[in-house]
Amino acid sequence: MKARALFNREEMLEMNRKTLLERGVTIEEIAEIAHMQQSKWSDDISMKDCIDSVEKILSLRDTFHLLQLGAEIDRLTEENLIREPLREILNADLGMFGIDELFGLELAGLYGTIGKTNFGDIDVNKPLVVARLNHDGKSDKHQCHTFLDDIVGAIAAAASTRVAQIINEREARKDPSYQEIKLDFDL
Ligand code: MG
Repeated sequence: MKARALFNREEMLEMNRKTLLERGVTIEEIAEIAHMQQSKWSDDISMKDCIDSVEKILSLRDTFHLLQLGAEIDRLTEENLIREPLREILNADLGMFGIDELFGLELAGLYGTIGKTNFGDIDVNKPLVVARLNHDGKSDKHQCHTFLDDIVGAIAAAASTRVAQIINEREARKDPSYQEIKLDFDL
């Protein structure tokens, strides 16, 4: 089959899901971070909203390009296919490199300023699977997660922000003067 450059949203979601699994991360693990982050603000955050949000974000074209490129750089680094001087910078997960955080900020920024600040929180506090990726990438396991920890953290931050938007939208719709208008718009 001829290689393609353009994929639809279902295809991008499936390829992102597969790449994450190949790199050892599940959608549920990302959703757990979003759930934990939003639970600071509300007691009844639904895990389903968190998983739906992660899947929605994984179907976005910008997410697809950032995740696929970042995960591929990590894989090539593990297989020693990146040349010096970048190989050691990536292998060492050099703190002052910052291009991995740039990927994370760009992805989280798809959900605005709150997306970016939520990413900052996850980047600093490294909850759940982000801590595992960061630890395994820095250990002697011959794993490189220099880009993936930021991408996973940013997807969680974006999902957490989307859940907050859903809650706010549900609240706004309780206004007695609200009249449903069908919009061809996907939150
Ligand atoms: Mg990183």
